[in-house]
Amino acid sequence: MENILNKLMMNKLLRKTWNEFQYMISQIEDQATPQQIFESFQNWYKKNKKNFSPSLLKIYRIEELINIDPKKYPLAHSQCTPQTLRRFLHLELSHEDSFVMFLRDQLWELVVLTIDAECHRCGTLEMSALFDVEAQQVVLECLQCGELQTLKGNSCKCLNPKILRLAQKKYLEIFGLI
Ligand SMILES: [Zn+2]
Repeated sequence: MENILNKLMMNKLLRKTWNEFQYMISQIEDQATPQQIFESFQNWYKKNKKNFSPSLLKIYRIEELINIDPKKYPLAHSQCTPQTLRRFLHLELSHEDSFVMFLRDQLWELVVLTIDAECHRCGTLEMSALFDVEAQQVVLECLQCGELQTLKGNSCKCLNPKILRLAQKKYLEIFGLI
């Protein structure tokens, strides 16, 4: 375990990458829309992707979140603002995995629609809307406990995570969520 942690400690290059990430956030204009914020993330990522361990990018499914056409996803409904991001300007990270996890959380916040629905397992009142490509329907995932349920509130425990995709705007509209 200790070896793994040492391996993931932020080296000089990753510290520089983190500093550039913070600089990118500081340069986003006050009035920027979630889509403009997302584009800043995309540009930063294109230049800095090579500095991360490919295995970590894979575990946190960064590519799936960042290689999207933002026009097709519900970014306009995101709560992410330049002001909320700037709260992280003083954040100090010591491990590469916390950096990648942080990146994933911000991208998730931008790209995935959060709706007011109650998780039947843990009672959390916010869930993420994802798309089940097999059943061609929107399903909800609890960020706290990972519970998956249908829009009607039925549990879909047996659902294979591999058939879940980020939900595009057109499907969220069909299901009346936006
Ligand atoms: Zn839950």
